[in-house]
Amino acid sequence: MTAAFPQPLDGVVTPRFAGPVTFMRLPQIEDATQLDIALLGVPFDLGTTNRAGARHGPREIRNMSAIIRRVHPVTRVEPCRLCRVADAGDTPTNPADLMHSLQLIEDRVAEIRAAGAWTLSLGGDHLISLPILRGIARATPGFQPLGLVHFDAHSDTNDTYFGGMRYTHGTPFRRAIEEGLLDPKRIVQIGIRGSLFDPEDMVWAAEQGVRIIRIEEFEALGVDATIAEARRVVGDGPTYLTFDVDSLDPAFAPGTGTPEIGGLTPREAQRMLRGLRGLNLVGADVVEVAPPFDQSGGTALIGANMMFEILCLLAEARVASR
Ligand code: MN
Ligand code: MN
Repeated sequence: MTAAFPQPLDGVVTPRFAGPVTFMRLPQIEDATQLDIALLGVPFDLGTTNRAGARHGPREIRNMSAIIRRVHPVTRVEPCRLCRVADAGDTPTNPADLMHSLQLIEDRVAEIRAAGAWTLSLGGDHLISLPILRGIARATPGFQPLGLVHFDAHSDTNDTYFGGMRYTHGTPFRRAIEEGLLDPKRIVQIGIRGSLFDPEDMVWAAEQGVRIIRIEEFEALGVDATIAEARRVVGDGPTYLTFDVDSLDPAFAPGTGTPEIGGLTPREAQRMLRGLRGLNLVGADVVEVAPPFDQSGGTALIGANMMFEILCLLAEARVASR
């Protein structure tokens, strides 16, 4: 319907190993007034508490995203024909200053939202979700707290680290709840597992009403019932989607900062994302791909494919919002 929309390079015309390195080989367009959905790199990992490296995630996801073709194999959705989608480049960051970086990320996201585009961000560690949500709130008149579908091994609702540090990739959703960016009763976390710092680790989140689906419960429910529960929790209201690649088992996705054994398979993640079709999504991110620990490139490949699954959801949501 819209030959004028930005299109990926055609893989049967320009080989997929050739050409410039952008997300899905789309044009790079930084002026968000020209876009409905901005694919936004956030090369930041100062929130990482263990193995750093997610700052290199956007570049490697761009590289591996060259393998993505334009049509979803199951839904037949073509996101770049539904919407104006392009690679909006990377947010500025300050690799010597965490707090300054948070401000720079928030400012860029607010600028994009104010220009009328939504963001699908590629991290970066999970702390980036906090300034992204702040930027969305700042640029949305009459903002109301969002729902959240959160795939992760970790709840990321701890309070502080290292003697009072409130901003790490283990704390973004606690801060987002405290700041009124998220409605805790409309948060669902899927895939939670791994050893704890303290028996009380997730008590605060549960007390706020966050629906935590640990991996054991996911196993008992199965994919379809987990989808149904996620949809029940977030309901029809505006919802953000965040996908931490460590929700997957490190057998598939070892290239991440805080791997936890006993995780989701890529198939389970694909099925669950496809089951979220029709949700009132308003933005999303894929985080925690850490290329220094990704010797096969397979984790960045998963990141690129999850990006495409989510882009298809966002494009349909964007059309439905018109
Ligand atoms: Mn996380
Ligand atoms: Mn995690």
